[in-house]
Amino acid sequence: MDNQITVNGIVVSSMPVAETDKRVVLLTKELGKISAFARGAVRPNSPLLAAGNPFCFGTFTLHSGRTAYNLRSVKMTARFESLLNDLSGVWYGYYFLEVAEYYGRENMDESERINLLYLTLRALEKKRQSFDLIRTIYEIRTLGVNGEYPNVFTCVSCGGEAQAKRLSHFSVKAGGCFCEECVNRKGGRPADLRPLSVSALYTLQFILSTPLPKLYTFDVTPEVLEELSSLVRSWRRVYSGHKYKSEEFIGL
Ligand SMILES: [Zn+2]
Repeated sequence: MDNQITVNGIVVSSMPVAETDKRVVLLTKELGKISAFARGAVRPNSPLLAAGNPFCFGTFTLHSGRTAYNLRSVKMTARFESLLNDLSGVWYGYYFLEVAEYYGRENMDESERINLLYLTLRALEKKRQSFDLIRTIYEIRTLGVNGEYPNVFTCVSCGGEAQAKRLSHFSVKAGGCFCEECVNRKGGRPADLRPLSVSALYTLQFILSTPLPKLYTFDVTPEVLEELSSLVRSWRRVYSGHKYKSEEFIGL
């Protein structure tokens, strides 16, 4: 069949439509973010039962109709069942999916975002780090995947590199770090300049530059976590302002 297509990715959201069907949103390597109808996916014996639910990673076969994609079959590779049985963890999972759905784009290769989601959900399952640390790491790395992230490698004012200059402050509105010299220079200091600890700076640099498989391999003190999460909150307020439905369930 010529209008059949196979894609790899994850179901990021689903909602029931009609009596037995579902409409799912997939994040895929081949087509970016797409939505598709899963006919009969509500029925308990449906081969699309698993694919009708979020957190399902796999290979999806779609039929491309005149106006929409129809899901034909799925070969599931991961589903994060233990996460679904953990009430505290599952809301973080839904939040991560919602963020990925919000930033996912049509006709873009979303492999990096899919890999990030996979590793983040794995980290939630393993519970080696606190959920808040996992959330903060995910939010910062998502900025990296989007390509619109804070400059934590050079001073945004003089361009001095981190190796040569002590990057001691941060301004959300200016988009990144300031070195001590620029902070002490009269005039030109942004009103929202805040001190940035050395540990928070290194953590930001690590999160934005490390290969994905190493992303969830460290811990920080509660003070550094608070510093980072406050910075991410301000960044979001200034550059996005978007409110996620799942936010309230994880106390944001
Ligand atoms: Zn500077």
